[in-house]
Amino acid sequence: MTALVMGGHGEQDDPIAEAQARGAGLAQFFLGDPQGWKGPKVAYAGGAAGLKADAEAAGIALYVHAPYVLNVATSNNRIRIPSRKLLQQTVTAAAEVGAAGVIVHGGHVLKTDDAELGFENWFKCIDRLEMPVPLLIENTAGGDNAMARHLDRIARLWEAIGGAEGGDTVGFCLDTCHAHAGGEDLVGLVDKVRSITGRIDLIHANDSRDTFDSGADRHANFGAGEIAGEAIVETVREAGVPVVVETPGGREGQAADLAWLRERLG
Ligand SMILES: [Zn+2]
Repeated sequence: MTALVMGGHGEQDDPIAEAQARGAGLAQFFLGDPQGWKGPKVAYAGGAAGLKADAEAAGIALYVHAPYVLNVATSNNRIRIPSRKLLQQTVTAAAEVGAAGVIVHGGHVLKTDDAELGFENWFKCIDRLEMPVPLLIENTAGGDNAMARHLDRIARLWEAIGGAEGGDTVGFCLDTCHAHAGGEDLVGLVDKVRSITGRIDLIHANDSRDTFDSGADRHANFGAGEIAGEAIVETVREAGVPVVVETPGGREGQAADLAWLRERLG
C-alpha cells in the first residue's frame, strides 16, 4: 500500500514544488479563483506546456479542482450556463497542463426543484462536454437538494450520466469529510460507491470538523476532527487509488497528515 500516490492541495504557481514540499507524488490545485467566474489561467512560470513537461520529468501527477462556484445541475440559467462554459474551459486547460483529472462538485438544485431536473442537467452537460481528461465528480457534504451527497442520488446521477456521450470518461472522487458530514458512514462505503459507479478514481482524505450528518463542509487535520482515524485509513486502503489531503495548515499541515496516513497504511 505504500505505493499509493498521495499529495495535497496547494497553490498553482509551482505545483511541483508544492508536491515536493509535502514529500508527495501528486499535486492538486485551482487554475484560478475558486470563487470566481473569470476562467482558468495557468500561473506556472513556464506556462501550461512547461508545467506539463516539468511535472512529467519530476514524476508528479497533477489534479485540477474546478471552481466551487460551478453548479451545472441548477435550474437557474444564470448559473448553469456559465457553469458549463467554465467547466469546459477548466477541462481544456487541465488537459494543456497534462492533468490526470478535473474534480468537480456534484452541485445541487433549488430547494423547491425536483431532483430529476438536476440529473437531466448533468446529462446535458456531460453530453456536450469535450473531455480530453477525465472529469471526476465529487460527493458533497451539504445541501438538502444536492446531487451527490447521498448514495441514492449518486445512483440516479450515474444512471443519467451513463446515457450521455462521453459518460464513461466521468469518474468519481470520494471525499471522506463530505461523506461523514453528509451522513454516509465510511465503513463499507468504498464498496457501496463502487457498486453504483463501478469506479473510484481519487480519494479526498480529510477529517471533519463537524459531526456526522451535520451537512457542514469543514475539513480538519487527521485526529483533530470527528472521524475515527481508522475509518479514514480503511477508506484509503480499500479504494487503493491516488489520495489528496485538503486539510488545514498548508504545506506543513498537509505533510504531517500525509505522514500520519503513510504510517498507518504501513
Ligand atoms: Zn474534497
